[in-house]
Amino acid sequence: MRHELVEQKLEDLRRLSAERGLRLTHQRMEILRELASATDHPSAETVHGRVQRRLPTVSLDTVYRTLCTLEDLGLAAKVSVVGDNGRFDADLSPHHHFVCDACHEVRDFAWPDLDDLPIPGEARALGRVDGLRVILKGTCADCLARRAGRDS
Ligand SMILES: [Zn+2]
Ligand SMILES: [Zn+2]
Repeated sequence: MRHELVEQKLEDLRRLSAERGLRLTHQRMEILRELASATDHPSAETVHGRVQRRLPTVSLDTVYRTLCTLEDLGLAAKVSVVGDNGRFDADLSPHHHFVCDACHEVRDFAWPDLDDLPIPGEARALGRVDGLRVILKGTCADCLARRAGRDS
């Protein structure tokens, strides 16, 4: 499934670059490939570390700017995680995020009942609503287990 997302994203990047007259660089393709195959919502630093095997000379700054370009193109989204630096997600299908306060892992979950709820009038009065993303904050199961192990 992830492989299909990667291929779809690369195809979208080819199309959008042609449409907007952007240069389709090898770096951009590789950075998008890395982000689209990740399921952990990596930061620019993490993506940088991972692409270095294939792009040994790429700078962190270039990776960060490329991720922002991908966001502008609608191929990725920044995950807002309070108190953390930017994290990126190439999966733009409707889903929500669970953020661990201890290890800052960001995990996806579905909440179909919530997606079906009507948007409150107060929110609709603020402008056009294009999507719904909920962030649940807490402590992930791994961190809870680690903590329990330490305390016993
Ligand atoms: Zn955790
Ligand atoms: Zn996500």
